Amino acid sequence: MLSAVLFDMDGVLFDSMPGHAYAWAKVMTEYGLPMTPTDAFENEGRTGIGTISIFTQRYWGRDATEEEARELYERKTVVFNEYQAAHGGEAPEIPGAAAVLDKVRDHGLLRVLVTGSAQQSLLSRLERHYPGHFRPKLMVTGDDVRYGKPNPEPYLMGLKKAGITADEALVVENAPLGVRAAVAAGIRTIAVNTGPLDPQLLADEGAALVLPSMTALAEGWEDIVRSMDIKQ
Ligand code: MG
Repeated sequence: MLSAVLFDMDGVLFDSMPGHAYAWAKVMTEYGLPMTPTDAFENEGRTGIGTISIFTQRYWGRDATEEEARELYERKTVVFNEYQAAHGGEAPEIPGAAAVLDKVRDHGLLRVLVTGSAQQSLLSRLERHYPGHFRPKLMVTGDDVRYGKPNPEPYLMGLKKAGITADEALVVENAPLGVRAAVAAGIRTIAVNTGPLDPQLLADEGAALVLPSMTALAEGWEDIVRSMDIKQ
Protein backbone atom coordinates (compact mmCIF):
# COMPACT_ATOMS: atom_id res chain seq x y z
CA MET A 1 0.00 0.00 0.00
CA LEU A 2 1.49 3.31 -1.10
CA SER A 3 1.36 6.03 1.53
CA ALA A 4 4.10 8.54 0.65
CA VAL A 5 6.12 9.91 -2.22
CA LEU A 6 9.65 11.07 -1.45
CA PHE A 7 10.84 13.92 -3.64
CA ASP A 8 14.36 15.04 -4.38
CA MET A 9 14.53 18.83 -4.83
CA ASP A 10 17.19 20.10 -7.29
CA GLY A 11 16.26 18.98 -10.79
CA VAL A 12 12.90 17.57 -9.62
CA LEU A 13 11.11 20.56 -8.06
CA PHE A 14 13.44 23.42 -9.07
CA ASP A 15 15.46 23.89 -12.25
CA SER A 16 18.50 24.80 -10.18
CA MET A 17 21.02 22.34 -11.59
CA PRO A 18 22.35 24.57 -14.42
CA GLY A 19 23.34 27.16 -11.77
CA HIS A 20 24.82 24.53 -9.46
CA ALA A 21 26.80 22.97 -12.31
CA TYR A 22 28.13 26.37 -13.40
CA ALA A 23 29.13 27.31 -9.84
CA TRP A 24 30.76 23.96 -9.04
CA ALA A 25 32.82 23.95 -12.24
CA LYS A 26 33.95 27.56 -11.87
CA VAL A 27 34.91 27.43 -8.18
CA MET A 28 36.51 23.99 -8.16
CA THR A 29 38.64 24.95 -11.16
CA GLU A 30 39.66 28.20 -9.37
CA TYR A 31 40.94 26.02 -6.52
CA GLY A 32 43.01 23.86 -8.88
CA LEU A 33 40.46 21.05 -9.01
CA PRO A 34 39.46 20.74 -12.69
CA MET A 35 35.73 20.06 -12.89
CA THR A 36 33.26 20.45 -15.75
CA PRO A 37 29.52 21.18 -15.56
CA THR A 38 28.93 17.59 -16.72
CA ASP A 39 31.02 16.36 -13.76
CA ALA A 40 28.66 18.36 -11.54
CA PHE A 41 25.59 16.66 -13.02
CA GLU A 42 27.25 13.26 -12.57
CA ASN A 43 27.95 14.02 -8.90
CA GLU A 44 24.57 15.58 -8.19
CA GLY A 45 23.09 14.44 -4.91
CA ARG A 46 26.30 14.32 -2.90
CA THR A 47 26.74 16.71 0.01
CA GLY A 48 29.08 19.66 -0.58
CA ILE A 49 32.01 18.07 1.26
CA GLY A 50 31.31 14.77 -0.49
CA THR A 51 31.63 16.36 -3.93
CA ILE A 52 34.74 18.33 -2.95
CA SER A 53 36.47 15.24 -1.56
CA ILE A 54 35.90 13.27 -4.80
CA PHE A 55 38.02 15.88 -6.55
CA THR A 56 40.64 16.48 -3.83
CA GLN A 57 41.13 12.70 -3.77
CA ARG A 58 41.58 12.70 -7.54
CA TYR A 59 43.97 15.66 -7.77
CA TRP A 60 45.53 15.97 -4.29
CA GLY A 61 45.33 12.34 -3.19
CA ARG A 62 43.42 13.11 -0.01
CA ASP A 63 40.05 14.24 1.40
CA ALA A 64 39.38 17.94 1.82
CA THR A 65 39.85 19.26 5.33
CA GLU A 66 36.73 20.69 6.96
CA GLU A 67 38.14 24.19 6.63
CA GLU A 68 38.97 23.77 2.93
CA ALA A 69 35.54 22.33 2.26
CA ARG A 70 33.79 25.11 4.16
CA GLU A 71 35.70 27.86 2.32
CA LEU A 72 35.15 26.27 -1.08
CA TYR A 73 31.47 25.56 -0.44
CA GLU A 74 30.88 29.12 0.76
CA ARG A 75 32.49 30.44 -2.41
CA LYS A 76 30.39 28.04 -4.50
CA THR A 77 27.22 29.32 -2.81
CA VAL A 78 28.22 32.93 -3.63
CA VAL A 79 28.83 32.06 -7.30
CA PHE A 80 25.56 30.10 -7.46
CA ASN A 81 23.64 33.08 -6.08
CA GLU A 82 25.38 35.41 -8.57
CA TYR A 83 24.40 33.06 -11.40
CA GLN A 84 20.78 32.99 -10.26
CA ALA A 85 20.72 36.79 -9.85
CA ALA A 86 21.88 37.10 -13.47
CA HIS A 87 19.24 34.57 -14.61
CA GLY A 88 16.00 35.96 -13.27
CA GLY A 89 16.77 35.94 -9.53
CA GLU A 90 15.70 32.46 -8.49
CA ALA A 91 15.74 28.98 -10.00
CA PRO A 92 12.39 28.41 -11.72
CA GLU A 93 10.04 25.54 -10.95
CA ILE A 94 10.47 22.40 -12.99
CA PRO A 95 7.50 22.29 -15.42
CA GLY A 96 4.95 19.72 -14.27
CA ALA A 97 6.24 19.50 -10.68
CA ALA A 98 3.27 21.36 -9.19
CA ALA A 99 0.88 19.07 -11.11
CA VAL A 100 2.67 15.95 -9.78
CA LEU A 101 2.48 17.27 -6.19
CA ASP A 102 -1.22 18.02 -6.57
CA LYS A 103 -1.93 14.49 -7.87
CA VAL A 104 0.04 12.97 -5.01
CA ARG A 105 -1.91 15.09 -2.50
CA ASP A 106 -5.25 14.29 -4.16
CA HIS A 107 -4.49 10.58 -3.77
CA GLY A 108 -4.06 11.15 -0.04
CA LEU A 109 -0.32 10.49 -0.07
CA LEU A 110 2.28 12.25 2.07
CA ARG A 111 4.90 14.41 0.35
CA VAL A 112 8.38 14.00 1.85
CA LEU A 113 11.41 16.07 0.77
CA VAL A 114 14.82 14.37 0.66
CA THR A 115 17.56 16.73 -0.51
CA GLY A 116 21.31 17.05 -0.08
CA SER A 117 20.90 20.81 -0.15
CA ALA A 118 21.45 22.76 3.04
CA GLN A 119 20.41 26.18 1.78
CA GLN A 120 18.86 28.34 4.47
CA SER A 121 16.24 29.75 2.09
CA LEU A 122 14.96 26.27 1.21
CA LEU A 123 11.88 26.16 3.46
CA SER A 124 10.45 29.53 2.50
CA ARG A 125 11.15 28.89 -1.17
CA LEU A 126 9.31 25.55 -1.08
CA GLU A 127 6.34 27.15 0.65
CA ARG A 128 6.27 30.03 -1.83
CA HIS A 129 6.31 27.81 -4.92
CA TYR A 130 4.50 24.71 -3.63
CA PRO A 131 2.26 26.01 -0.83
CA GLY A 132 0.99 23.44 1.64
CA HIS A 133 2.92 20.50 0.22
CA PHE A 134 5.96 20.16 2.49
CA ARG A 135 6.05 20.25 6.25
CA PRO A 136 9.36 20.77 8.11
CA LYS A 137 8.70 17.53 10.00
CA LEU A 138 8.76 15.64 6.69
CA MET A 139 11.95 17.09 5.27
CA VAL A 140 15.46 15.63 5.16
CA THR A 141 18.12 18.20 4.21
CA GLY A 142 21.90 18.28 3.93
CA ASP A 143 22.00 19.40 7.57
CA ASP A 144 20.32 16.19 8.79
CA VAL A 145 22.60 13.60 7.23
CA ARG A 146 26.07 12.32 7.88
CA TYR A 147 26.84 10.57 4.61
CA GLY A 148 24.37 11.90 2.06
CA LYS A 149 23.52 10.33 -1.30
CA PRO A 150 24.51 7.90 -2.84
CA ASN A 151 24.39 6.35 0.65
CA PRO A 152 20.81 5.20 1.39
CA GLU A 153 20.89 7.21 4.65
CA PRO A 154 18.83 10.26 3.48
CA TYR A 155 16.05 8.08 2.07
CA LEU A 156 16.03 5.79 5.11
CA MET A 157 15.73 8.94 7.22
CA GLY A 158 12.83 10.10 5.04
CA LEU A 159 11.01 6.79 5.61
CA LYS A 160 11.61 7.11 9.35
CA LYS A 161 10.30 10.69 9.48
CA ALA A 162 7.16 9.58 7.59
CA GLY A 163 6.80 6.52 9.86
CA ILE A 164 6.59 4.09 6.94
CA THR A 165 8.47 1.18 5.39
CA ALA A 166 10.18 1.10 1.99
CA ASP A 167 7.34 -0.78 0.30
CA GLU A 168 4.89 1.99 1.24
CA ALA A 169 6.97 4.60 -0.57
CA LEU A 170 7.91 5.79 -4.01
CA VAL A 171 10.86 8.08 -4.83
CA VAL A 172 11.07 10.70 -7.57
CA GLU A 173 14.69 11.47 -8.45
CA ASN A 174 16.61 13.05 -11.34
CA ALA A 175 20.23 12.17 -10.52
CA PRO A 176 21.99 8.83 -11.02
CA LEU A 177 23.47 8.94 -7.50
CA GLY A 178 20.08 9.86 -6.08
CA VAL A 179 18.52 6.84 -7.78
CA ARG A 180 21.33 4.70 -6.36
CA ALA A 181 20.59 5.96 -2.83
CA ALA A 182 16.85 5.37 -3.14
CA VAL A 183 17.25 1.89 -4.63
CA ALA A 184 19.76 1.01 -1.89
CA ALA A 185 17.10 2.06 0.63
CA GLY A 186 14.81 -0.51 -1.00
CA ILE A 187 12.36 2.02 -2.44
CA ARG A 188 10.80 1.84 -5.93
CA THR A 189 12.16 4.80 -7.83
CA ILE A 190 10.88 6.84 -10.74
CA ALA A 191 13.63 8.80 -12.49
CA VAL A 192 12.89 12.00 -14.40
CA ASN A 193 15.74 12.99 -16.71
CA THR A 194 15.54 16.79 -16.47
CA GLY A 195 19.25 17.38 -17.16
CA PRO A 196 21.78 16.68 -19.92
CA LEU A 197 22.88 13.16 -18.93
CA ASP A 198 22.14 9.96 -20.87
CA PRO A 199 18.89 8.50 -19.46
CA GLN A 200 20.52 5.06 -19.56
CA LEU A 201 22.58 6.13 -16.51
CA LEU A 202 19.34 6.36 -14.52
CA ALA A 203 18.14 2.97 -15.72
CA ASP A 204 21.54 1.45 -14.90
CA GLU A 205 21.20 2.61 -11.27
CA GLY A 206 18.00 0.61 -10.92
CA ALA A 207 15.19 3.10 -11.57
CA ALA A 208 11.91 1.22 -12.11
CA LEU A 209 10.91 3.78 -14.71
CA VAL A 210 12.77 6.58 -16.52
CA LEU A 211 10.68 9.50 -17.80
CA PRO A 212 11.81 12.58 -19.76
CA SER A 213 10.04 15.14 -17.55
CA MET A 214 7.84 15.86 -14.55
CA THR A 215 5.10 16.78 -17.02
CA ALA A 216 5.20 13.19 -18.33
CA LEU A 217 4.92 11.94 -14.75
CA ALA A 218 1.93 14.19 -14.05
CA GLU A 219 0.17 13.19 -17.25
CA GLY A 220 0.80 9.48 -16.75
CA TRP A 221 0.46 9.31 -12.96
CA GLU A 222 -2.56 6.99 -12.76
CA ASP A 223 -1.25 4.58 -15.44
CA ILE A 224 2.23 4.61 -13.99
CA VAL A 225 1.07 3.78 -10.48
CA ARG A 226 -1.15 1.02 -11.88
CA SER A 227 1.63 -0.44 -14.06
CA MET A 228 3.98 -0.52 -11.08
CA ASP A 229 1.34 -2.59 -9.30
CA ILE A 230 1.08 -0.12 -6.47
CA LYS A 231 -2.15 -0.25 -4.48
CA GLN A 232 -3.37 3.18 -3.36
MG1 MG B 1 18.33 16.19 -7.91
